[in-house]
Amino acid sequence: MLELLWESGRPTGAYELVEALKLRDSRPVGPPTVYRALEFLMAQGLVAKIESRNAYVPCAHPERRHDCLFFICCNCGSSIELEDRRFESLLSENAALIGFRANRRVIEVEGTCARCIADGEG
Ligand SMILES: [Zn+2]
Ligand SMILES: [Zn+2]
Repeated sequence: MLELLWESGRPTGAYELVEALKLRDSRPVGPPTVYRALEFLMAQGLVAKIESRNAYVPCAHPERRHDCLFFICCNCGSSIELEDRRFESLLSENAALIGFRANRRVIEVEGTCARCIADGEG
């Protein structure tokens, strides 16, 4: 599953994954299985969910707990994950300031990626 997400290279919906698994495996895998696997991978910090796309991407830095900062291209659908500790501490400070306990820390920034701008599509 994780392999499929990496291969796709862009946020992928659960149903797309079901279809991709169908092509790869002879035994069919139902959506509930895919959702369970995704939940597990998210709990492990290996996969992040892009809520605005209802799609999943593999985490670029699964080796440690981190905040995911995603830049998502509205044109080609690609996503780039950045990691910035300044941003993470800023978020923690602000959460502490209002006494908020954050459990899902994924920031989504939508726009046009460099490649699309270069292609004149943005
Ligand atoms: Zn991440
Ligand atoms: Zn793009």
